[in-house]
Amino acid sequence: MSKVMRADELSKLEEIEPSVPADPITEAVRNLLREVGEDPEREGILKTPARVARSLRFLTSGYQQDVDKVLNGALYSVAYDEMVIVKDIEVFSLCEHHLLPFFGRCHVAYVPNGKVIGLSKIPRLVDVFARRLQVQERLTVQIAETIMQKIKPQGVGVIIEARHLCMIMRGVEKQNSIAVTSHMLGEFRECEMTRSEFLRLVKERS
Ligand SMILES: [Zn+2]
Repeated sequence: MSKVMRADELSKLEEIEPSVPADPITEAVRNLLREVGEDPEREGILKTPARVARSLRFLTSGYQQDVDKVLNGALYSVAYDEMVIVKDIEVFSLCEHHLLPFFGRCHVAYVPNGKVIGLSKIPRLVDVFARRLQVQERLTVQIAETIMQKIKPQGVGVIIEARHLCMIMRGVEKQNSIAVTSHMLGEFRECEMTRSEFLRLVKERS
């Protein structure tokens, strides 16, 4: 498995080493440009196919990532059994129907059962699944199920609030509409008090 590079690292690499073998996505984007009525040889967009290829590789780099490696060494045994919540995690993903961005915030909470995940790993876990072609519902479920599976907490709750450019730009929805999805497991599903505490903490502005 190759190391996943950040977009800026990749563009540096291209400057140093312009002879890096062309990504097959580059040729596909050249064809795409022709099909929409552009001239891929036009100066302003000459490098666009290579840029799109790099950016698309980055935005879908989650396929190459392994959850266990991301969480590696960051699962701790603790006696703490109060709710852990990480809210307002920025999330950027691509809808699998239009390859257009959807983006917003993700809130993750769980009640531990002897084990916790290092707090900084939660946003990284969100990225692993967000950097793939997605539907918001599945993204929400994958984050919750993964936490459930990795630390077997008493419960997990995940909420994502996002705007979808495929809806907004094509005029399908009003500009300000936000799609909200949630997935609740264990105590978050069964216990009204736990669930409402989570919702209250999410709404509370810092
Ligand atoms: Zn879409």
